[in-house]
Amino acid sequence: MQELRGKIIADQIKGECLDFVGQYNGILPALAILRVGHKEADLSYERSIKKRFMDFGLEAKDYELPENVSNEEFQQVFDFINQDPEIHGILVMRPLPKQIDEAAMLRKMNPLKDLDGITDTNVAGVMRGDADAFAPCTAQAVVEILKGHQIEMAGKEVCIIGRSMVVGKPLSMLLLQENATVTVCHSKTEDLKAVTSRADILVAAIGKAKFISSGYVKEDATVIDVGINVDEAGNLCGDCDWDQIILKAGAATPVPGGVGTVTTAVLAKHLVQAAKLQMKLAPIDDSADEYLS
Ligand code: NAP
Repeated sequence: MQELRGKIIADQIKGECLDFVGQYNGILPALAILRVGHKEADLSYERSIKKRFMDFGLEAKDYELPENVSNEEFQQVFDFINQDPEIHGILVMRPLPKQIDEAAMLRKMNPLKDLDGITDTNVAGVMRGDADAFAPCTAQAVVEILKGHQIEMAGKEVCIIGRSMVVGKPLSMLLLQENATVTVCHSKTEDLKAVTSRADILVAAIGKAKFISSGYVKEDATVIDVGINVDEAGNLCGDCDWDQIILKAGAATPVPGGVGTVTTAVLAKHLVQAAKLQMKLAPIDDSADEYLS
């Protein structure tokens, strides 16, 4: 069985980011991470973004607000970031506390800075298949992994388990755009195994540790595990039981080291794309370089 490691894809994206920074000397794409409170999952995601961005030659600034921040103060900080021309992308750690008017924030957010595709403009753009629309980074990461490992999507039966706005729903649109035949399953799907075991590509985005065993997997299928969970022993694990799926799958992503690794790289790729769009940068034309004396 082929292990579909995320690092190969993340390294390709790193190369593209470093090329951009090298070409447009003096432009430093900058991400603002807006976090309310101190949830360990948010802090750990923030640390991995900052480390990754440093490697990729990009900037990530964190804006931290207390858990009991008023809606008014939150919106003021958000407005500042949203309007600052030196910030090219925004990542808001969600869910936000109840006192924050998230809908008001989403209505104001500049879609060109919306790297995780949460504004209506980007949601609609992903549905339409617009090339410039930002899809949620995790959903995009799944497609990058499949493309990067040359796994054929066109005409294939793909089954996604999970219908959230961050993974399942946008991913179904991205895969349709790749001409896959897509089925989306959820907690009310009847006879889940019968549906998943037809799939050439199975994507698990359920949020339940080691839920997917070999019985859900078609012989030689590609399995993409989006889940990030902690098992009984306190170790990080996916939604798939690795020891089981390797018995049936032809290729699969590990956890950790699979989709999560590519997700932060896609965030970096989106930041570079956002900086280009906001500064209306034309591609560098080096076709005359051969005539240089
Ligand atoms: P979510 O919002 O909780 O959605 C889970 C989905 O799974 C729901 O659609 C739910 O169905 C479905 N589901 C739950 N139990 C099921 C069952 N027994 N059979 C079939 N479907 C079932 O989760 P999410 O935010 O999409 O995240 C999913 C997983 O991905 C989590 O482990 C999360 O930590 C991980 N994640 C990873 C990354 C990354 O970068 N790798 C990023 C985001 C999330 P209903 O709609 O019917 O409730």
